[in-house]
Amino acid sequence: PCTHRLELPDEAATQELARRLAPLVRHGGRIHLTGDLGAGKTTFARALLRECGIRGRIKSPTFALVEVYEVSNLYFYHFDFYRFNDPREWLDAGFRDALAAKDAVVLIEWAEKAGAELPPPDLEIILEPAGDGRVATLTASSEHGQSWLNALFP
Ligand code: ADP
Ligand code: MG
Repeated sequence: PCTHRLELPDEAATQELARRLAPLVRHGGRIHLTGDLGAGKTTFARALLRECGIRGRIKSPTFALVEVYEVSNLYFYHFDFYRFNDPREWLDAGFRDALAAKDAVVLIEWAEKAGAELPPPDLEIILEPAGDGRVATLTASSEHGQSWLNALFP
């Protein structure tokens, strides 16, 4: 199955999912984080980046559009396209190379605002409210993503 549903009853559960995914993206990969404001996209991204070894403050890229990190020659791009109005803006902003990078970790919040020209992710994580917690729906769109799901949910 290329989709898996997981309950995340509290923030610790979100962080645990990030902790388990972190070693799998060690050689790069693209993850789209989908969900309404407050769904927990930045919480998940921050936990994943932290688990990947990023030290210091991890800011939400809501205003800067992207935050870039580097750990041991691996680049991490954390995008947030919430403020994008025109889907072509990400091209004009010069993000094409970063978004298509194969040897980087690319996390994108509000990818739907960037339109259909965005390369497909390896994995999409949809976060939705469920009681006081969240439910995550993880969908693989590449062999990479599928191998991550196989490792996460054997
Ligand atoms: P987004 O980036 O989707 O707008 P944020 O991550 O900035 O959302 O904020 C999400 C809020 O929800 C934070 O206050 C966080 O503590 C909380 N949260 C995150 N994950 C969970 C969870 N699994 N259960 C309950 N609350 C959560
Ligand atoms: Mg956010």
